[in-house]
Amino acid sequence: MNIDIKQFAALQKASKASFFEQQKLVKQIMLGKTVLCKTCQQPLTLHTPEQSALTGIRCVKGCTDIALDFA
Ligand SMILES: [Zn+2]
Repeated sequence: MNIDIKQFAALQKASKASFFEQQKLVKQIMLGKTVLCKTCQQPLTLHTPEQSALTGIRCVKGCTDIALDFA
């Protein structure tokens, strides 16, 4: 998903503050902590390449969708 990675890069440039917030969130998920989506309050889940072709961190409803590069 090259488009997602490009969007992520654009987001990094657009807002450093939200990028750091996102990095913090990713770290917490990686540590196995439960993090809720800010929009729908559903737990965010990590999708690894072993589990899904579409890797990243997403909530059930899809309002949070963080593309991660596992390469
Ligand atoms: Zn959500």
